[in-house]
Amino acid sequence: MYQAPRGTSDILSGEQAYWRYVEAQAVNVCRLYGYERIDTPVFEDASLFTRGVGDATDIVDKEMYTFEDRGGSSLTLKPEETASICRAYIEHGLHNLPQPVRLYYLAPIFRYDRPQAGRYRQHHQFGCEAIGDEDPSLDAEVIDMAWRFFSSMNIVHLSLKLNSIGCSSCRPGYLSALKNYYASYADRLCSDCRTRLEKNPLRLLDCKQSTCQPVANLAPKSLDYLCPPCQEHFNQLKKYLALLEIPFEADHRLVRGLDYYTRTVFEIQPEADGAQSTLGGGGRYDNLIEQLGGKPTPAIGFATGIERVILNLKKQEVSIPSLPKPQVFIAHLGSEARDEAIKLASRLRQAGIALIEATGSRSLKAQLRQANTLGVRHTVIIGDREVKTGTVILRDMATARQEAVSPDQLPGLLI
Ligand code: AMP
Repeated sequence: MYQAPRGTSDILSGEQAYWRYVEAQAVNVCRLYGYERIDTPVFEDASLFTRGVGDATDIVDKEMYTFEDRGGSSLTLKPEETASICRAYIEHGLHNLPQPVRLYYLAPIFRYDRPQAGRYRQHHQFGCEAIGDEDPSLDAEVIDMAWRFFSSMNIVHLSLKLNSIGCSSCRPGYLSALKNYYASYADRLCSDCRTRLEKNPLRLLDCKQSTCQPVANLAPKSLDYLCPPCQEHFNQLKKYLALLEIPFEADHRLVRGLDYYTRTVFEIQPEADGAQSTLGGGGRYDNLIEQLGGKPTPAIGFATGIERVILNLKKQEVSIPSLPKPQVFIAHLGSEARDEAIKLASRLRQAGIALIEATGSRSLKAQLRQANTLGVRHTVIIGDREVKTGTVILRDMATARQEAVSPDQLPGLLI
């Protein structure tokens, strides 16, 4: 028996109402803030991610689905969207548009991770990117958008964690302080952290192993090492968040898992749960576009996993609107009646009426049972007598009242 590959799932029709609802909220929030949709290919040159995301990150080191195509190119299924959007920004000269360029996406994302609740090998992200401006008000805008997206769906009890990890001028000083501090505890660290100490010291702060927690909690804080422009940027951002009445917690251990972040980093978490349940996160990436071959271009973005949003909607028992379904069923008895039913169904659909037509040649009772199960408001019944008289029977499923009407009246009666 075939099964969907481990860590992936089918989204059956019973689940679709959640997906359409979340996507509609995403599209609406983007409309309110003037973000326009972008779609990029599902795969990219592998080097876009090794160069952009950084080869010492978990994503590049352990999680990418990379394959060689028949032409010998090394391609990767997108493990995140930001690098692809930056590639598109450079490739299509989007710096010629008024800046910042505000974009959003809804896209499948692939990471070879250990599957567990809320963590899949294929998941879907909604995210936005504001490219071409370093104004901290844009950081506040993106955070506000994320916050509004969740609150528009009544997902509550969220906490916003905020940090600044500096820029290329102040980060080196911070990293050497961090390394010096950690070096004296090297014998107490987990084996991953010993590697991080050499390859990616910032990620030391992110370690989840219990043995490393006391060391990480007392580590030097990036906020204490910011250069004056980064400090000013962070202060302004905090001021704007206060104006927007968005509560936040400064979290000196928040660094995010990708190498391209500069200055602002943030995450939004359900209050009760741990880091595995992070709903969304983002930050500035002021050097990424230049690193990928474009002109120096500051930018900030945010992403959230739709599966996790839906898990939270279910956990918080948020009621969501159901999807519209056909409200009309056409039942028929006999082969001539079936011919009439086929013609009628076509006419009604052309008039914009959604309907489901009976198949096969079951009894009227069985057809009405099916109509009931489908939950339609009306059933149109055509039998021999109706074929002869050129009428149809219209049955109101709630009251079981039936009346003979002319097919021409149906569009008016069914809408
Ligand atoms: P990231 O790109 O790692 O910052 O992820 C952004 C958001 O996508 C996270 O906050 C999660 O909501 C979601 N996410 C990340 N990885 C996964 C995964 N493996 N499975 C499901 N959702 C994920």
